[in-house]
Amino acid sequence: MILVSSCLLGLNTKYNGENNAVELLIEYSRYGKFIPICPEQLGGLSTPRAPSEIIGGSGEDVLKGLCRILSDTGVDETQQYIKGAQEVIKLVNIFPVNAAILKQRSPSCGSTQIYDGTFLGKVKDGSGVTAVLLKEYGIPVYSEEEINRGILEKLILE
Ligand code: SF4
Repeated sequence: MILVSSCLLGLNTKYNGENNAVELLIEYSRYGKFIPICPEQLGGLSTPRAPSEIIGGSGEDVLKGLCRILSDTGVDETQQYIKGAQEVIKLVNIFPVNAAILKQRSPSCGSTQIYDGTFLGKVKDGSGVTAVLLKEYGIPVYSEEEINRGILEKLILE
């Protein structure tokens, strides 16, 4: 089974109450192999919610206690992000998860890029908290920007 960021499937879980729907992913939902996840909701944050970014580090640093995740008004939401990632790992321990397809640049879901902590729309290399934890558990993490029909069909048949 494949974990998929809920917002990519059209669920309005995004911080602003909207989504990041990707038609190709919605089309492949019909195979019944996707598990929609929103780590930020699983961590207890509301929707809509303030936008947040990892400040001065990456998801890996957050999990090591080396930096925090703050909202744009300075509220520390680090623990909710960590809890959300841990809740996703519970699903890995319940279902036969072979991959994850997560929204690029999110402080939770970004697989290779995240916003840089300035709230200016700037991006840097690094992964979000949930993406890092999934990789530590051996789950391959793809972004919506790299998937295509070939990759999806391979993952679905695994
Ligand atoms: S935490 Fe992930 S699934 Fe939830 S809205 Fe953000 S990018 Fe989408």
